[in-house]
Amino acid sequence: MKKVSVQCRNIRLSYGATEVLKDVDLDIQPGEFFALLGPSGSGKSTLLRLIAGFNRASSGQLLVDGVDISGQAPWQRNIGMVFQSYALWPHMTVWDNVAFGLVERKVARATIKSRVGAALELVGLQDYGARRPNQLSGGQQQRVALARTIVIEPKVLLLDEPLSNLDKTLRVQMRQELLALQRRLGITTLFVTHDQEEAMTTADRMAVLDQGVVQQVGAPAALYDDPVNTFVANFVGTMNLLPGRVRERGGDTVTLDIEGVGRLVVPLRPETPQAESLMLSFRPHTLRLDRPGAAPGAQSITLPGTVEASEFLGEVTRYRVRVGAHSLAVDEQHRAGGAAFAVGGAVSLALEASQVRLLAR
Ligand code: ADP
Repeated sequence: MKKVSVQCRNIRLSYGATEVLKDVDLDIQPGEFFALLGPSGSGKSTLLRLIAGFNRASSGQLLVDGVDISGQAPWQRNIGMVFQSYALWPHMTVWDNVAFGLVERKVARATIKSRVGAALELVGLQDYGARRPNQLSGGQQQRVALARTIVIEPKVLLLDEPLSNLDKTLRVQMRQELLALQRRLGITTLFVTHDQEEAMTTADRMAVLDQGVVQQVGAPAALYDDPVNTFVANFVGTMNLLPGRVRERGGDTVTLDIEGVGRLVVPLRPETPQAESLMLSFRPHTLRLDRPGAAPGAQSITLPGTVEASEFLGEVTRYRVRVGAHSLAVDEQHRAGGAAFAVGGAVSLALEASQVRLLAR
């Protein structure tokens, strides 16, 4: 099957006076597993439904394989969509649920038999054809919904929070299955989720949406390491943010005054904004906790602090450490028998300078 691209060109969509999609521009590559990530209400489902043909844009273009399909009805688009609720027919067997789309399209009976059989096998449900949806687990129902969609051999697969009805263990297992299936089919896939872990573990690339605006597009690690703004920084993982004023820009460093902390010198990067007022950002695991007075590493910035709280998360302990007027998250890798830092105790924080990014405020 030919792999196709999906392109959104300056797409706008309003419900009444409320603009829900604001100039959405996306280029999804043929065969890509692409995640749309954003908080509830950011416009993810609206965009997915627009691609499926259930919503109409007020302006802009939607191209699939280079062809504008904006004017096509959903059934003309050959785009498959899996809904969060699965939307299986309860009175039909698994087999009939999967065959439904082919029967509707008046496909020959022998072809239906072989294609339904192949789709069920692909999702590991070849022995469940005679069951009804209520005789299946949540994960199995999910697979039926997938089989029912892929059996029509869509050019593009749309998944709207397909795993959110499953419990945590199953969700983690199913997201790998989903990715494996997508790779086997090679079908261009858009996956909507509000769960950053889900997006990061599966997507080739992802777009972060907020209030109908695409904030950033890129590979998961690129968005995690180099978020373009504080929204992406906070939404993709946990980020510490310290507001500061630029005191001096040198050749490869910038000196900042941080309110309630003091003066810090951090590396200047090509993408550092020119503004006078900046946000210092760094991840919790790029800080190290020491007893007060510990010798700082050559490449690190040292800050004195007080432990406010700690949470044992298994792999790491997450501390909240007060530094001047700010509270920072610090992750310390856990080792059996390793020393913990007591709440209320004074500590020294070492921050790896190379891990600091400066964002616009
Ligand atoms: P998400 O999928 O990111 O949770 P949605 O695309 O469902 O967000 O919704 C985006 C915004 O559009 C929300 O503010 C929502 O209330 C609004 N919205 C969604 N559907 C409709 C509708 N049919 N009529 C009016 N407003 C809607």
